[in-house]
Order: sequence, then C-alpha cells, then structure tokens
Amino acid sequence: MSETIWFDPSQCLIGGVWQAPATGQTLPLVNPSDGTVLCQIARGTADDVDAAVTAARAALDGEWGRMTAVERGRVLTRLGQLVLDHVDRLAMLEALDVGKPLTQARADAVALARYCEFYGGAADKVMGETIPYLDGYTVYTLREPHGVTGHIVPWNYPMQIIGRSVGAALAMGNAAVLKPAEEACLTALAFAHLAVEAGLPAGALNVVPGIGAEAGAALSGHSGVQHISFTGSVATGALVQQAAGRNVVPVTLELGGKSPQLVFEDADLDAALPFLVNAGIQNAGQTCSASSRILVQRGVYDAVRDRMAAAYAELTVGPSVQDLRLGPLISDRQKSIVEGYLSKGADLSVAAQGTIVDGAPETGAYVRPTLFADVPADHALAREEIFGPVQVIIPFETEEDAVAIANSTDYGLVASVWSRDGARQMRLAKRLHAGQVFVNNYGAGGGVELPFGGIGKSGHGREKGFEALYGFSQLKTVAAYHG
Ligand code: NAD
Repeated sequence: MSETIWFDPSQCLIGGVWQAPATGQTLPLVNPSDGTVLCQIARGTADDVDAAVTAARAALDGEWGRMTAVERGRVLTRLGQLVLDHVDRLAMLEALDVGKPLTQARADAVALARYCEFYGGAADKVMGETIPYLDGYTVYTLREPHGVTGHIVPWNYPMQIIGRSVGAALAMGNAAVLKPAEEACLTALAFAHLAVEAGLPAGALNVVPGIGAEAGAALSGHSGVQHISFTGSVATGALVQQAAGRNVVPVTLELGGKSPQLVFEDADLDAALPFLVNAGIQNAGQTCSASSRILVQRGVYDAVRDRMAAAYAELTVGPSVQDLRLGPLISDRQKSIVEGYLSKGADLSVAAQGTIVDGAPETGAYVRPTLFADVPADHALAREEIFGPVQVIIPFETEEDAVAIANSTDYGLVASVWSRDGARQMRLAKRLHAGQVFVNNYGAGGGVELPFGGIGKSGHGREKGFEALYGFSQLKTVAAYHG
C-alpha cells in the first residue's frame, strides 16, 4: 500500500469482506506510460464469482433487499459525495492505471460522482402506472429489480462505466457483482472501498477482478445471475450473450462503433472544429463513442482537412501525469492493433500526425495520432473500429451520399450533423443509424442524463438516464378483481 494506492489492491470484495481470491493467485497491473508493474491484483476465478453471487443473493434476502428506495438513494448520494471528496486521488489512480491524462481522468471521476448523484436522486422516482381494464378490476404495474446483476467492465472508462451500470442497478435495488478489466481495475476497487464507507450493506456490491476467460466467463454463465451488463468488444459481447442465453438471462451490450460526424457546407466550422478533433483523440481514441469518421461536403472539404491537419500537428502524446492531450494506449497489445491499422493505411494519404514528446519512455505504449484524408468509404480504416487515435476524412457531394456513407458500417452508436439548416438537422436525426444523434455538437461519452446505447454491432439495450432504470428492472402487472 502507498499514498497513491491507499488500499490492498490484491483483494476481492465479497459479502462486505475484503479477501484474497480462492486460489491466492494475483496478476500484475501495468502502468502503460512506462511499462512498469504498479501492483498485483486478485486473479479471481469461478469459485470467487460463485461466492460473490451467493453473497449478492443473501444481500437481496437481507438488509439491502429490505431498504426502501429512499434509503437506497441516500446511500448512493453519500457515495457520490465521497467520490467527489476523493476526486484527485481517483484521477491519479486512473491516470497511472489506464494512461489517461490527468485532466481526462479527473473528468471521469467527476462523472462517476454525477452518476451516483443522478441515480441517488432517481431511486425513489421510478413509478408504475394504473391501466384501465375490465369492469370490476384495478390493474397496476410495479417496477422490480432483476435480482443479482453481473457487470463486466472494460479498461477504457472504468469509472464512467461503473457509474452508469452499477449506479443504476443499485438504485433499482439489484445486488451487483462487478468484474473489472484485468488491464485496469484500481478505480473499481477504490469505488468499492468508498461504497463500504458510504454504508452500502454487505453483498450489495461485490467486486471480483480477474481474467475475462476465467472470472468474466464464470460471471456471464452463472445460473444465479439474473441480468448481465457488458461493455467491450463485439467478439466478447457475443460470447457473453451466448453464455447468458443458456440461463435465459437478459443482457445489455455496449460494443463500440465507427461513429461519424457529418459536416455540411453551411456548417459553422469554427464551432465544429474542436469537436471534430477531440471526439477522435479523447482517451487516445479508446472510446466506444469516438468519432473516427469525419464526412465532409466537397465545398468545405479542403478547409476542414487543412484545419484538422493543423490541429493534429499541435497534438502531443506523453506520460499521463504530464497531462498532455494524449497519453499512451492501454497496453502493448492495443498498440500493436493500432499499428496494424496504420500499416493497412499505407496506401492512403496522411494529412497530419501528432508528436510523441521527448523523454517519453521507450517502454510506454505510445502511438502518434494520425489523420488520414480522402479515404474511400469502403476502406478498412473507414469501416472497422480501430480503438486508437486515428481518424479518417471522407468527402461527400450530397446529403443523400452522406447518409449512405454514414449508415454503411455494421455499427450505430453515435452520429452528429453540423449544419445550419434546421430541416436537414431534423431529417438526418431520423435517417442516421445510431443510438444517439447530436446536432451541432458531439457528446463522446458525455451526458449522465442521456440514454445511451447502440444498434447493429454497437449492441443493444440502453444505459444512462432514466432509461437505464427501466433496463435494470422488470415490470410486473397486478390485476386485482374486486367486483
Ligand atoms: P474485451 O471485450 O475482451 O474485454 C472487455 C471485458 O470483458 C473485460 O473485463 C474482460 O476481462 C472481459 N472478458 C474478456 N473475455 C471474456 C469472456 N470470455 N467472458 C466474459 N468476459 C470476458 O476487450 P479487450 O480485449 O480488452 O479489447 C479488444 C477490443 O475491444 C479493443 O481493441 C476495442 O476495439 C474493443 N473495446 C471496446 C470497448 C467499448 O467501450 N465498447 C472497450 C474496450 C475494448
């Protein structure tokens, strides 16, 4: 333990007790800014997951299950305040663990607090309805928790994803088992320590770190789990859905995308420019809702390309604690994936690249942010999720072309329209295949209050906002005959 990591990171939280995993085994957690080992985390396995599910069920049958919605809301609100009290410590943990520049890590910690506040306030505001029915009946609906919910979380935005998924699940009265990513789980553990301090009853939140194929697979296939929330890759999401399907358990999948921004000739380019670039390079492009495709109408194409290129030339990459625009990628493995895509783009025109700062450790997972121009819409770089700081600019002639290109990938998470034409804004908001459409702005990952989720290979189900509370509950219809 140290001042930075103020708890024992090698433990699981099961039934309110911090404990070593059943096998006693640990995994190294690497700082991607320099490749050094930060600490050891628990390598939880099926036995730990089983104990966590049992503890969650016991919590539902005990103090947690008996709490009123108001009381659950108060615990979450207290937790939100504790998160705010620890914002700087949480930001430092995330910067070291994920490689996120400190300012971005801090924004994630503030967002985690906002989720706790939002869902703390919403817990007692989810209501059923009365339904007119046959003579002599009173019919009403109840919103009830699923029971034990499993949360499989990736490494790119641990705090935000835990906030939106665990926060909403607890607000509805579920008991959660959280499996953070093996690459980054310090803020998940810190959050659980704060939850205990906030007075969350034992077993309401359990945390089992471990490898995906071990702890993750055990959680998604566990017969004692009644709902799974997964964020990550399409391939793993499909495995999780299959495993949950064997137990006939509902899943929410949030699987990333290839989100476009459409820039028309009548757009306010000064307003658009910061969003066009930032939505692609935030968190070094490792964002499910990153905008990796910029579609630009021919009349402003050269101007947008040149201005984006100038912005890229200013981008600097370096260790997370230096707080530059970009930090390293999460791992050497992710770096090889991104470098593979840069090689696939060897036939394309590079409009500009950013710079890795002098003195950045050779052992860090750094790549230069890269902007490709004049990219054909059917090129691999224009169709596949890269999950790195790489954007492509694609020219288009007409609104019809823009819609066809925007809707031509397997994904559909976020899209944005930059235009001053109100009719076009409304038309495209309907025609674009995406779970969220922004008009004259772009909200990569933002908006605690805004329902979020994808269509197609971007997944299904909605998180954030009130919609998440409906997802983390089930509707019961009560039909009472009284004559
Ligand atoms: P992944 O989907 O394999 O991992 C995400 C989470 O799933 C982690 O907690 C992991 O431990 C767990 N997991 C892995 N295998 C599992 C299994 N068989 N059963 C249950 N859980 C399992 O993603 P990754 O390997 O870390 O990254 C690979 C690619 O995924 C990235 O390049 C990126 O394209 C995509 N990705 C997307 C998001 C997103 O926000 N949508 C986040 C991370 C990664």
